[in-house]
Formats: sequence, structure tokens, C-alpha cells
Amino acid sequence: MTAPNDMFIDAEWSVASDGAREDIVNPATEETADSVPIATTADLDRALAAADRGWRQWRQADAWTRSAALRKIAGITRDRADEIAAVLTEEQGKPLAEAKGELAAAADQFDWYADEARRIYGRTIDGHSRQHRLLVMRQPIGPVAAFVPWNFPALLAARKIAPAIAAGCSIIVKPPIEAPRTVLCLAQACHDAEIPAGVVNMVTGDSARISAHLIGSGVIRKVSLTGSVPVGRLILKLCAEQMIPASMELGGHSPVLVFEDADVEGAAEICARGKFRNMGQVCISASRFFVQEAAVDRFTQRFVEVTRSLKIGDPSQPDTDAGPLANQRRVEATTALVADAVANGATIACGGSRPEGFDKGFFFEPTVLCGVNTSMKVMTDEPFGPVAPITTFTDLDDALAKANDTDFGLAGYVFTNNTRTAFLASEGLDVGMVGVNNLVIATAEAPFGGIKNSGFGREGGAEGIEAYTV
Ligand code: NAD
Repeated sequence: MTAPNDMFIDAEWSVASDGAREDIVNPATEETADSVPIATTADLDRALAAADRGWRQWRQADAWTRSAALRKIAGITRDRADEIAAVLTEEQGKPLAEAKGELAAAADQFDWYADEARRIYGRTIDGHSRQHRLLVMRQPIGPVAAFVPWNFPALLAARKIAPAIAAGCSIIVKPPIEAPRTVLCLAQACHDAEIPAGVVNMVTGDSARISAHLIGSGVIRKVSLTGSVPVGRLILKLCAEQMIPASMELGGHSPVLVFEDADVEGAAEICARGKFRNMGQVCISASRFFVQEAAVDRFTQRFVEVTRSLKIGDPSQPDTDAGPLANQRRVEATTALVADAVANGATIACGGSRPEGFDKGFFFEPTVLCGVNTSMKVMTDEPFGPVAPITTFTDLDDALAKANDTDFGLAGYVFTNNTRTAFLASEGLDVGMVGVNNLVIATAEAPFGGIKNSGFGREGGAEGIEAYTV
């Protein structure tokens, strides 16, 4: 499959009006993989006009029509999953098996919202007299601007496109420069599913310029961002000027509480494999490991064994567990976090630097740090990289105090075989989502989102459609 590499505006593949393009870098080789256009103001205005027309048409489509279209997109995405996954691996660097998993999850979003499209209910309320009934209706909110990050470009684009289409909105998506063609493949899928012109549009180029122009245009009625807390603050300010509601799915620094009554070695295995998935570049990545004192040696030993067994290499090879990071910024941030922890007394149990024999590519070894404390940046700054700091707690209260000592509040995890501890720890964690004996909490059927600096608004589940309606 030749992946699309132009913008998708009003059902047409478009280059920039001035012809400018920017390169996409293969993070495993640092070579140029392709390029995409840099949208000009004129291109953005064309996308806005198309989205405005697209919404006015699509909102007339009945729920069964919108549902059928979404089902078709899900089917096309599944049929092309292997081909799109290869594009994703080339431009973002995640191992091929993970890329295929992401495409399956993206298809799930379209399937889920195919059902939700038919379940947008209102209600009736008795009025002051028998002659009065009040009718509450949900209508599509209007054209949406969606900003998609590079860590799960297919899944996170689908999480925004699917509910927008389901509700009867149009959408302008800004894919990330680290993985634009993966997202553009979804535009192709929408087009092939006969979504009308203007309903789904995609513009590539400068993030700050695109967000400022789209949000300030007067056309956009809703914004959805998945990204970092600083970028979230910037986008929220733009939204405030226009009084536009926004969904903010921002960073996290998820605590894992491992109690001594858990299957400690089993927990270590799940945690080590989960931690280094997508090289830790996951907003809900387990990133602070708190282990009850009596269990910490067993946990650490197994965690390190599993980490050492991960095969680092070319992400396009089926047996690779750990590919490169997505960009040089992540390598630099990870290097700095490890150096700061070591300077403040942490020890490196494994990893800690660029792997031997990898002269090219944004590679960094999966790294385990022991003896960490809260004076180290790795315990306060979101790592978004392959670093696992392990420390201890004494009892439930101590665990919760340490876990909640952060401005983030996206996800948390609890490993225990005691039901009472599972509930008390889950409810005591100051986060939007908790996994118990499991790190897999992102699924189409459950609402996803955080509290505190991790943002607000929920994507997925029955709740996910609400943000796209008024
Ligand atoms: P970054 O803050 O520079 O960029 C994050 C994302 O926001 C990128 O996709 C970028 O294109 C986009 N962006 C940047 N400025 C923007 C603007 N003005 N308007 C619209 N979009 C804009 O950081 P980075 O180095 O690319 O990524 C690392 C950080 O990003 C991590 O610390 C993490 O917090 C965050 N991040 C979070 C998620 C998530 O799933 N919540 C995903 C990717 C990145």
C-alpha cells in the first residue's frame, strides 16, 4: 500500500498552496521516510469552509446512516490493518506487533461508535400543567478541531473521528509530524466508506499555527486534544477566547501499588512488559512503582529479568520487543531523567543508556532504577520514556500518600489478591482510571480520561459521545 502523504480537504488530497513540505523521519534509521505538506492559512481556510459545509450536510443524516458508515470504516480499517501498521512502524518506531494491535483498537473505536450513533437519547419532562411536556434533545455540536499526538496516532485519531461522525459533526484533524501518514490512512478509510465531502478533513504542518488559526476562526465549535499539559494550557487559552468547550487528555505519571499479598513475580512480569510497551511513551504508562517492603526484592529481581530479556531492535522485525523512541527529544529527556536520578543517589539495575551497536536511530535501553525518592525528577516529571523507578511503601496509607503526591491524575494500578485492599486502594488513588492486577484499561467500551493536571472530558464508553453533542 502506498500511504497517502498529502492533506485531505473537502474529500480531495491536497498539497499546500505554496508547495511547502516537511520531512517525516524514520526513528529507527534517522533517514527521511517521506514528507507531508505544511498547511498555509489559505489551506486552513479551505478546510474550515469544507468542515462548515460538511457539518450542515452530515447533521441531516439519520442515526442508522451514520452508524452504517462507521461500521464500514471499522471494516476497512481492519482489512487494511497490516498495511497501515507497517506505515505506523516505519514513521513512529513501535514494534510491528504493537502497531497491529493499535490498528485493531482503532477499528474497535469505529465499531463502538457505530453502535453509540444510534443511542443518542433525549428525555421528556412533565411540565407545570398536563398540557405541557418539555423535550430535551441532543444535537451535534458542530465542526470539531482535533489534535492527535504521535504515541498512538491511529487509535487516538479514531477516538476523536468516530464520536464526531457518530454525533453528526464534521472534524478537522491535525496529525502529528512523527506519524502523519498513519492518520491520513484513516481519512482514506473514511473516504472509501463514502463519508460525504467536508465531514472528515486533515491538515498537516505547524501545530501552533494550525491550532491558533482553527480555534480562532469562529467556525470550530469543539476542540479535542491529546497531548502534554503545557500544550493543553495553550489550547485551553485559545478556546477560552472563543468560548469553545474542549476535551483535554493530557499527561500522566501513573503509580503502581504492589502489595505483598499479590502474585509478586506475576505482577513484576506484567509490569515490566507493560512498562516498555511503546517504549513507555504512553500517557497511562505505569511510571512509578511502589512495592510493599517485604516484596520489593522479589518484585525487582523478576522485573529486571524480564526487562533484560526484551529484544531491542528493528521495529519492523516480528521478534522485536523494544524499538526506538519516536524522536530525539524523548531520548534527551530520558537521558536527563536517568542522569538526575543517579546524581541524587539512585542505582541503575539495568539499562541506562543507548544500547551497544545502535549508532543510528533514537534507541535507549529499557531502564530500571532502584533506590529512588521524590527529590528525583523521575518521580515528579512525566517520563514518557523507557524508565521504571522502583521504591517501597509500608502500608496502604503510606502507599496512597506517596502515589497521590503528584499534580497528575490520569491512571493508577493496584496488584493485590485481597479484595478489600483492591477496593480501598482503587478508591484512594487520586486518578481517573484504575487497573487491578492488570495494566490494560484503555478499551473502546470504557470511558477514558483523567483528573487534576491530566485533564478533563472522557473519550470512549457511553460517555464519549456526550462531548460531541449539545
Ligand atoms: P510537546 O508538548 O512538544 O508536543 C505534544 C504534542 O502536542 C505533539 O503531538 C505536538 O504536535 C502537539 N503540539 C505541540 N504544540 C502544539 C500547539 N500549539 N497546538 C496544538 N498541538 C501542539 O511534547 P513532545 O516532546 O512531542 O511529547 C512529549 C510530551 O508530550 C510528553 O511529556 C507527554 O506529556 C506529552 N504527550 C502526551 C500524550 C498523551 O497521550 N496524553 C501523547 C503524546 C505526547
